[in-house]
Order: sequence, then C-alpha cells, then structure tokens
Amino acid sequence: MFGFQTPVIVIGGTGVVYAMLLMLSLRRRGLQTWLHGLFFLYLLLGVAWALGKSLTIMRGLIPEVPFYGGLVATNLVVVLAVLLAVLTLLFFDRAGAQWTALGGAVWVALTWLASGSNAGGIQDGLQESLRLSSPAEAANIVRVAGWVGFTGGALVLAVWDYVRIQRPLHRNRILYWLGAVLLIGAGEGLTTVPGETMAQVGAFVRMLGILVMGYAMLSYYLPSVRNVVRQAASATLITLVTAGLFLASFLLLQSLLQSLPAGYVLVGAAIMSILLSLVIQPVRRAAADLMGRFLFGEGYDPARALRDYGAVITNILDLDMLVTMAIGIISEVLEIRRGALLLMTEREDGRIEVRIIPGMGEVSVKTAEFDPNSPILSHLNRTGQPVSQYEIDILPEFRASPPWERAWLEELNMELYVPIRRQSLMVGILALGGKAGEAPYSDQDLDVLSTLAGQTAVALQNARLVSDLKALNADITELNDELTRANRRLEKLDEAKTNFIQIASHELRTPLTQVRGYADIMADVVQAGVPSPAQMAQVSQGISRATVRLEEIISAMLDVSQIDVESLSLNRTSLAMTSVMRIALDGCRDALQQRKQTLTLEGIEGLPPIQGDLQRLCQAFGNIVGNCIKYTPDGGRITINGRHFQEAGAGGTPTTYLEITIADTGIGIDAEERELIFEKFYRVGSPDLHSTGSTKFKGAGPGLGLPITRGVIKAHGGRVWVESPGHDEVNFPGSTFHVVLPATPPAPPAGVIAASAVASALAA
Ligand code: ADP
Repeated sequence: MFGFQTPVIVIGGTGVVYAMLLMLSLRRRGLQTWLHGLFFLYLLLGVAWALGKSLTIMRGLIPEVPFYGGLVATNLVVVLAVLLAVLTLLFFDRAGAQWTALGGAVWVALTWLASGSNAGGIQDGLQESLRLSSPAEAANIVRVAGWVGFTGGALVLAVWDYVRIQRPLHRNRILYWLGAVLLIGAGEGLTTVPGETMAQVGAFVRMLGILVMGYAMLSYYLPSVRNVVRQAASATLITLVTAGLFLASFLLLQSLLQSLPAGYVLVGAAIMSILLSLVIQPVRRAAADLMGRFLFGEGYDPARALRDYGAVITNILDLDMLVTMAIGIISEVLEIRRGALLLMTEREDGRIEVRIIPGMGEVSVKTAEFDPNSPILSHLNRTGQPVSQYEIDILPEFRASPPWERAWLEELNMELYVPIRRQSLMVGILALGGKAGEAPYSDQDLDVLSTLAGQTAVALQNARLVSDLKALNADITELNDELTRANRRLEKLDEAKTNFIQIASHELRTPLTQVRGYADIMADVVQAGVPSPAQMAQVSQGISRATVRLEEIISAMLDVSQIDVESLSLNRTSLAMTSVMRIALDGCRDALQQRKQTLTLEGIEGLPPIQGDLQRLCQAFGNIVGNCIKYTPDGGRITINGRHFQEAGAGGTPTTYLEITIADTGIGIDAEERELIFEKFYRVGSPDLHSTGSTKFKGAGPGLGLPITRGVIKAHGGRVWVESPGHDEVNFPGSTFHVVLPATPPAPPAGVIAASAVASALAA
C-alpha cells in the first residue's frame, strides 16, 4: 500500500486532537447551551476537515484515493468560518447569532452550488458576470469571500469588544478568544497556500487556536494573559542576568588560568566559585525585585496593611467616616479608585434593603431591595468569600438572578464584592472598583480583603448601632415636637370650645335682648295709649330682624352638626360658575357699598360647568366673601379669579378641576391660625370682639362660617385653604382663599348616602 507521510500525520494528528477535545468538551459541559452544542459541531467538522485535507494530500501521492475528500475539505472551511462567527456572537452574549447562521447557511449553499457540477448554470453565470477565465475560479472567489467575511467578522467583533469593555477580567477573557480567532484565521489561511509544508504549519496553528478557544469556553477561570506574559518576561530576564554572571566568571577564570602558575589553578577556581556563590543569590534577588517593581508595580506588606487598618477602623463610630476611612486605606494599599459600602438591612417582609454609602468615587445608584434568596447575596453570605463582577457575569450559578439585579450591579460599576459577616450573618459588602493599571486582584489581595472585611464587621456593627441610636433620637425629637404642636392645637381648640359657650350665649342673647327690648317698648306704648302705625312698624321690623339673626345662627349650628357626621345632603345639578357667583355676591352688595370696597371678578365666565348644589355653593362662597369684607378695612379691594386645569384622578383618568381664588387686602392671617380658622367655633382674637353678624370691620361672628364652607366644599369632593403673609393690622398684607372643585364630584360612598338620607328625613 502506501507509506505514512509527515503532512498526513500532522494534519491527521490535528483531527485526532479535535476528536479528543470533543470528548473532553462533552464530558465537561455536555450540550448545556447553544454555545457548547455549536462548539461540539465545530469540533466534529474540524475532524471531518482534517480527514478531508489528509485525503487530498494522499490523493496527490496515491491517485486511487477518491477525490471527494478534497472538495469537502475546501468547502468545509466556509462552514467552519460561519460557525466561528456564530460562536463568537454567542460567546460575547451578542444578539443576531440566528441571523448570522441563516446568512451563513445561504452562503454555504451558494459555495456548494458554485463548486458543484455547474448546477443551474451558476458557475457559468458567475464566470461571465465576474469576467473570469474558468468556472473553478468563480467557485474559488465565492468560497474565499465567504471565509474572509465570516472569519473577519468574528475578528472585528472580538477586537471591538476588547476596546469597548473596561473590566480587566472580561478583557482577559476576550483576549483569549481574540487570540484563538487570530490563530484559527492564520492557520486556515496558511492551509490554502500551495505546498504541503504550509498546509502542515497551517493545520498546526489552527489546532493551537482551537485549543485556546476550547480552554476559554470550557473553563471560567482563565489565567491573566498579561500576568503570564509579564512572568515569562521576568523569568527570561532573570535567567539572562544569571547566565551573564556565569559567563563573566567563566571568562575571568579562563584568563586567570593562563596567567597563574600551575599550582594555584585549583585555589583560583575555588575562590572564583566561592565568590560566585556569594554573589549569585543577592544579584538574582535584586534582579527579580527590580523586574517585579518594573513590571508589576510596587508590592505591599499584607501584615502591615492589616495592622494599620485595624488600628484606624476599630475606634470610628460614625458610619460615613468609617466607610471613607476603610475604603481610603484599602484604596491606598491596593491602588483602587472606586469603592463603597453596601449596607444590608433585613426588612419586615423579609426582603433585604441594600443602601450604598460611597467611600471613594461617584456612585449614582440608588438603594435597592434584594430578594433574600438572590443567588448573588446567598452565595456571598454562604461562602463569606469575595465574588468578582466577572464571576457574576460569567458563572452559570449567578445566571438565575433577576435581570434588574444584574443591571443594578452593572450600574454600580464595581469589580469585586467582599462580604462583611458577623456571626455568620452578612451585614454589609465592601464593593471595590478595578485596580490601577487594570491589574486583576491577586489571590493575596483577596485573602487580605477577606481579613479586612472581618475586621470591619465589628466596627460596622458599632457604627450602625450609634447611627440607629442617632436616628431614633431624631425620631423622638420629631415626635416630641409633633406632640407639642398637637398639644398646642388641642389647647386652642379647648379654648375655642370654652369660648363657644361665651360666644353662643352672647350671639343668641343679643337678638333675644332685642326681642325683649321691643316687647317692653310695645308694652310701654300700649300702656300710654293706642300705638301709632309708625311705632307698630318700627317695633315689628326690629323683632323681625332679631329673629332672622336668631334663625341664621341656629341654622348655621345645624349645618355644622350635619357636617360633623358627614351627612350634608347635596342637591346636585349642572351649574355655571357665573350663576353661583352672582347669587353668592347678591347678599354682599350692600355691605360692599357700606364699606366702600371694590370687588372684581376675572376668568369666571370661561369656566366649564360643575355638578353641584347651588344653594350650598352660594353659601360657601358667600361666607368667604363675607369674611373678606369684614376683615378688610374700608376702601379695600377684593378680587375673585377663576381657572380650570386637568389632573389624573383616582383611577388615573384625567379629571377637570375648577380653582377659584378670593383675595382681599385685609388684616391677613398668621401661619398657625390658617388651619384652625376652619375648625368650628374658632376665631382669632378675643371672643369679646364679636358682633351680631355685622359687616363692620373685624366684626367677628360665632366662628361657624369657614367650617361650613369647608364642609360644603369637601362634600363636593373639593378642597379649600388660605394663604397669607401673616396677620398685620397696620400694613394689611391680605389673605387669599383657594377653592378647588372637581367639575364632576366623585360619587359618595354608600354609607354616606344612607346617612344623608336619614339626616334629611330627620330634618323634614
Ligand atoms: P366668623 O363668624 O368669626 O367670621 P369664620 O369661621 O367665618 O367665623 O371665620 C373664622 C375666623 O377666621 C374669623 O374670626 C377671622 O378671625 C378669620 N378670618 C376669616 N376670614 C378672614 C379674612 N379674609 N381675613 C382675615 N381673617 C379672616
């Protein structure tokens, strides 16, 4: 038969290596993901390719071997290039792998057609359109274009991600892939060069690429390429220095041997050896030190770092200070530029609140709530060991964590998370950014950080206790203030109630006294003879005025009592605000004239209609305007303004609101009175300053007007409040009452309808 040829052994050998890698990948990861499945296919096709290539070479040597092997091998290169592009997309977690695969399938079909037996005249067509000399050349162009396109695409993607991504461990992983794609590309390129030697070299280089690729895919912890290169450089340089030293002593000894008498040769050699052995160690150490410093930067003494850290940290009780100092020291030792403390608090519902206290560098991320079963938190809590962002991104065990959690950590932009545990419970996490010069954290760094985190735990707990105490203290002070305010309010209300008896008796007695007065006059007149019609008219008018006033007061008291039990019944119709205002102001015209005050209305006409009770709304606005007249000096101004706006209502649907403001140029109201004046029987100032509902300046009534107004507006689903710079009877700062009403009031709850029905039944 035929003898074994070196190219066949080499190329066939790569096929065997692929087959072995295939077994290994199947054992290590199986067909877990698309990436692993496709890699399996890629290796399988690699074996086929090596077989085809070997067959081609053999065919050159032994013509009986069938030719299909060659064609398969040449066209398989395009399939492999497509797979490489898809694998690269999957490896970098990029979208579009399926589209690339589809495009690749189309191209592969085209390649096969172009290189087949002129199926459908494709070869001829291509040959003609590209003006080529033979159909084979056309097939070749399609093939090479496909290969260059897909391999180049994979390469560009890897380079792009390497430039884009900043994290050192991720970049290291990309570097492996980039190296693999470069080796595979170069290898496949070389195999197309004519000549068996190039084919062998190419196949070998390709195999190296596939091995690197397999390594990157099958193992998550990839040694740092930078460190490997640096270590190799350092070892080479140290070896060179040692060899130089040996060479120098050898040459020196040689020249000594020539000049020394024969008897001293041994002595000379012995002295030389002793000198060499004395010098060699320090020189090697110095060279290693120099190289270490030059290539890896200054090292640090872990014991010293721990001692310094402990001494500073243990006595700090302020949380922010503790974080600043802890991160500060760590950043100095490890040369990092960012760092924060993630403070964990278990909430009542079992979720974990993670608050960020920045130590160094800007952190814009907000407090988050983590699930206690979050894979990341439980891993940190369980192992107590640092976890890198790289591991969170790559390791399958963290893949189960929700996307928002990963996005939150991504935004935090840290490199390493070191759990701080106290009695096997995680109280916080030291989050640290990347080291200077993109150096990855070494094993020593991780050990030191774990120990530092352990030291931080006690200090952190103390600081938290102090901070909790401070917060509690602030809460108590706040509560105390609140109590004092409530107390003052209660005192004022109590005072108002006491005043009420005084006011009510006075308010009721004044008209009663008038009635009695008129009755006495009548009696006197009757005793003196027959009263004249004029006298009769005067007396009856007086009695009637007094009883009207009595009626007003009693009906106001009744209104207030209805409002108290929230059973004010409304008779709703569609109302124009202009009518409400006209009727409300009708009752004020005389008073305005007496007090020589001007009243202007703006923007009322353009308001949309409102569903409301005409009588009640007129009463509400009448009360406000009446007060403005009373508490504004003669000649003052009252301005009424209207506007409308839309706002999302209860169900999120937009609701139209009307806002009416009534501003006066009166005595104003102090800040602490602004809410109280809406309480019943509350009045500013002394109860002696009452008057029987007169319109004269500061003529206070029983303190029921504004409570009724608020009750009516509330029953319409609206709000009323007052704004004023303060009470001042010299400068008259004025007050502005705001009334906001929904155009369509919300339907009252069933209970209120029932209550109002009962109330109206009782009233009837
Ligand atoms: P009253 O019957 O005393 O007017 P209200 O309930 O109508 O009762 O008003 C309560 C208190 O609010 C009044 O006694 C007055 O001190 C204050 N007040 C009401 N409106 C004004 C205003 N426009 N300017 C200044 N103070 C006002």
